[in-house]
Amino acid sequence: MVARVIPVEDFDLVIFGGTGDLARRKIFPSLYHRFVAGQMPPEARVFGAARADIGDADFRTMIREALDEFVPDADRDPEQVKAFLGRLHFVTIDATGENGWAELAQRMRPGVIRAFYFSVGPSLFGALAERLHKHKIATPDSRIVVEKPFGRDLASAKALNATLAAHFAESQVYRIDHYLGKETVQNLMALRFGNMLFEPLWNSHYVDHIQITVAETVGVGGRGAYYDNAGAMRDMVQNHMMQLLCLIAMEPPARFDPDAVRDEKLKVIRALDPLEPHEIVRGQYAAGDEPGYREDAGDPKSRTESFIALKIHISNWRWAGTPIYLRTGKKLKSRASEIAVVFKDAPHSIFGDDAGQHRNILTIRLQPNEGMTLGVTIKEPGPGGMRLIDVPLDMTFADALGPELEEAPDAYERLIMDVIRGNQTLFMRGDEVEAAWAWTDPIIEGWEARHDVPKPYDPGSNGPEDSMMLLHRDGRRWREIKP
Ligand code: NAP
Repeated sequence: MVARVIPVEDFDLVIFGGTGDLARRKIFPSLYHRFVAGQMPPEARVFGAARADIGDADFRTMIREALDEFVPDADRDPEQVKAFLGRLHFVTIDATGENGWAELAQRMRPGVIRAFYFSVGPSLFGALAERLHKHKIATPDSRIVVEKPFGRDLASAKALNATLAAHFAESQVYRIDHYLGKETVQNLMALRFGNMLFEPLWNSHYVDHIQITVAETVGVGGRGAYYDNAGAMRDMVQNHMMQLLCLIAMEPPARFDPDAVRDEKLKVIRALDPLEPHEIVRGQYAAGDEPGYREDAGDPKSRTESFIALKIHISNWRWAGTPIYLRTGKKLKSRASEIAVVFKDAPHSIFGDDAGQHRNILTIRLQPNEGMTLGVTIKEPGPGGMRLIDVPLDMTFADALGPELEEAPDAYERLIMDVIRGNQTLFMRGDEVEAAWAWTDPIIEGWEARHDVPKPYDPGSNGPEDSMMLLHRDGRRWREIKP
């Protein structure tokens, strides 16, 4: 079976920052894939816009080189590449000046969807939004796409929202969190709300606790300076992990539509208790065979965390009393993202003490080997009496779905096409982002006030020892991070 391609309406898409890293690495390769899949209408065009003094021909050469670098060989067909490049154009434009705007206005076609991707630093959002209006390039139906980071605290996120709101309605603003475009992340909703099996058990009566892990083996590498200004809390928790938490904890929305889904996610964020210092563990990878975090960050005194573990409480009827443990870090043992829902013990063991303690654990693997495993307790085979063991009911999506999963669009492909379709379900709403910062800000401010220093941890480990203690204190333990 081949993945279904849903046609979209004709469009002109402008990528501000069209010569930048994100555009070359992600946006144009994604558009190329959608073009090959037959999803780009015959007249649809994509404009790169930046200050560079280049024309269409130079720009096409630049994007051809980007496709050579970032699209796998097997997916690059010379005829398709040529046809795709024919759809690309370039306008030299200065976001903060008047250069190029009249030309862009003149090159836009009437009567088609106009979308504007702000793949530039957030300090330029206001200037772009203002000029799109002043030059009558934006229409009431236009969409704008903005990238993370969306602010670095509540005040800056509010300021950014206000800047965009001065020129665009909320229904026109698409805030990207690429995690929401991942197939397996969307699957969380299908799993929870498409099956009768899980939902009746999905609450604090049956769930002991939940673990959410996003572990990376890489360090901060070339992004050291940027990362040091953010840290794991801002770079991963406030956005990506918060989204995972929302999808796993939210109430069933009445419909799968943008506001119904986002209303429910917002309620989860607003129900988060403030964290106490003992519910937070921060870590920083030490030097091993390779330089440590502080060397990578270029600051021998850096107090930024490259690892964080949290014990989170959601104060609502569904989750009161069931903690959600969350951890993410760099230079850990394996690269793995998973959510584990650990169910409570059976209320009474009819098999006596010999049977041991057994729990059902539903593990949803986001990467690698996307899939899910349900740990089920059965009798140990053989004549040894009624001894129990846990065995996995295991499904790897690639085995179950075969080529269809491989052909599923990657996160950016899906999200860019959703922008053209006008579907905001997988984008963050302004109030959602602000609520996430409102919860995050006091935690970060607490560290700053206390001059908190992250605990060092060995590269290739599971993170700092204190992270183990966070669960040990509650009589629990982290699942092993394995690929
Ligand atoms: P980048 O490589 O520095 O590219 C910036 C782009 O903006 C260039 O095309 C640059 O071209 C253009 N630009 C800069 N000043 C301009 C101005 N005054 N007027 C018009 N164009 C201007 O940055 P990036 O890594 O692509 O990141 C873009 C945005 O995406 C940032 O907000 C970043 O935080 C976010 N983001 C990036 C990544 C990533 O992997 N790179 C991931 C997530 C989010 P000229 O200099 O020729 O004008």
